[in-house]
Amino acid sequence: MTFTDLGLGAAVLKALDDVGYETPSAIQAATIPTLLAGRDVVGLAQTGTGKTAAFALPILDRLDVSQKSPQALVLAPTRELALQVCEAFEKYASHLRGVHILPVYGGQGYGVQLSALRRGVHIVVGTPGRIMDHLDKGTLDLTELKYLVLDEADEMLKMGFAEDVETILADTPDDKQVALFSATMPPAIRRISQQYLNDPEEITVKTKTTTSANITQRYLIVSYQQKIDALTRILEVENFEGMIVFVRTKNVTEELAEKLRARGYSAAAINGDVAQVQRERTVNQLKSGKLDILVATDVAARGLDVDRISHVVNFDIPTDPEPYVHRIGRTGRAGRTGDAISFVTPRERGLLTRIEKATKQPITQMQLPSVDDVNVTRLARFDDRITAALEQAERIEGFRDIIAHYMRHHDVPEVDVAAALAVVSQGESPLLLEPEPDRPQRADRERGERRERPERGDRPERGDRRERGDRPERRPRPGDTRMATYRIAVGRRHRVEPRQIVGALANEGGLSRADFGAIDIRPEFSLVELPADLPRETLERLDGTRISGRLIELRPDRGGPSRRSGAGSERSDRPARKPRHRGPATSD
Ligand code: AMP
Repeated sequence: MTFTDLGLGAAVLKALDDVGYETPSAIQAATIPTLLAGRDVVGLAQTGTGKTAAFALPILDRLDVSQKSPQALVLAPTRELALQVCEAFEKYASHLRGVHILPVYGGQGYGVQLSALRRGVHIVVGTPGRIMDHLDKGTLDLTELKYLVLDEADEMLKMGFAEDVETILADTPDDKQVALFSATMPPAIRRISQQYLNDPEEITVKTKTTTSANITQRYLIVSYQQKIDALTRILEVENFEGMIVFVRTKNVTEELAEKLRARGYSAAAINGDVAQVQRERTVNQLKSGKLDILVATDVAARGLDVDRISHVVNFDIPTDPEPYVHRIGRTGRAGRTGDAISFVTPRERGLLTRIEKATKQPITQMQLPSVDDVNVTRLARFDDRITAALEQAERIEGFRDIIAHYMRHHDVPEVDVAAALAVVSQGESPLLLEPEPDRPQRADRERGERRERPERGDRPERGDRRERGDRPERRPRPGDTRMATYRIAVGRRHRVEPRQIVGALANEGGLSRADFGAIDIRPEFSLVELPADLPRETLERLDGTRISGRLIELRPDRGGPSRRSGAGSERSDRPARKPRHRGPATSD
């Protein structure tokens, strides 16, 4: 299904191409033809489903630019939503000449609104209260209104606008077309639609959806601006082989692929505009491992079947459950396990709930990988590079004499020479991220409560708190002597999941679910809260337990609170450093 199939005209289609939409969302596919055919619509749709375009496109497509009095009125519950809807209209009208769209909301001076109304506007988007004020003052003429949209009707009623909404419905021309959108269908909305709408078509988007159980699904709450940093941290700590990063529009595929390449990843974009030959070439590169990250739209990734894809990241969460299922089905191929991570902005929580309901599978919340997580992974990789280099015996041999010669002529211990070479190999960029400052509790709370600037067109929900990078308190509370933190030698790198840990420990150690506290999966190991007084036999049995074939070596965690303060202390499993030897270098 394409936008052309829906019966939209050239100017609107061109604008959609500019903004990079490739396919209609479910609500758009169902609503647009009905509205174009002139029928009233009651659409059950939440924010994030693409409902704005579902009503804006048919209005713009049929707009008579020569009519100077308002033709379309959109009622929205809040000023933010009204502005956001205006912005969307402007975007979709970019190839229509001379279209005037006016936001009208309380709190703004009347002056601007009055002069714009006098000059003539085609589309008014406003909150019911202020629209009523204009109607009472006689400054808004709705006698020639053709289209009326009630956006987030349930919210408008909740905010006490029922009477205003009904008055506007009643006092505007009978032959206008009405589209009512609501996330829920309480009796009041049903009554309004029965009373004021003309034989409306009720549109609920149903979805057939099953996701396979071998895919671990997680989500991360992020603001729009944080997404790129969040993705970078995930790329650092997740043990991925091949990855598809899904975005909503084709323009963003290119932008994001470019940003990832600038950060040193091998990434490429595919979208509906990429020629078939090029697409095949890119997919083959992903298959062969020449390419690790594909940034794609739904259309471009349809049917993609590459075993190497261990991770799917929904950089933009899809508008409907069905594309979600298609997207995450790109991983976990050929009997392997897969990981799906979805970025959700605070206002998109509703979409997430819809996906969970439709797929009947919970999606677990994850936290932004901390600086510690990133640094532990970096140190592990650093170790791996040393190990790999040591395996190149011939080349090592070639350098051995050179180093020995250096050490004979300079009074420097081996470890310093090695460290100096590490400096050379590392170049200017630091090996580790700076530790996050440990903020006192109160500052944390204040930071959490400070409202983030909403992203363009993003509406922070009431009571929403940003939790940027703040990890929930996972350690046992001070004074709680019942639980203790244990460390096991399997971590994210071994692709272990909490349920495997619980399963293995419960089976082997005869533990019950209630015995488990928090499980914190780190890159190299995991921390598990268990009863502090585990009997010795249980400990011994668990010490020899394996998860995914690896011995878990369960033991009390001695990392202590200092684990939080820096990456070095994470690695308390390393032998303690020997005191620096500053004496004369021994010659060999
Ligand atoms: P809405 O539910 O109208 O708030 O739209 C949610 C988001 O989806 C907005 O950022 C839109 O720009 C985007 N969007 C709407 N329709 C489409 C589409 N067909 N393809 C891609 N993105 C879309």
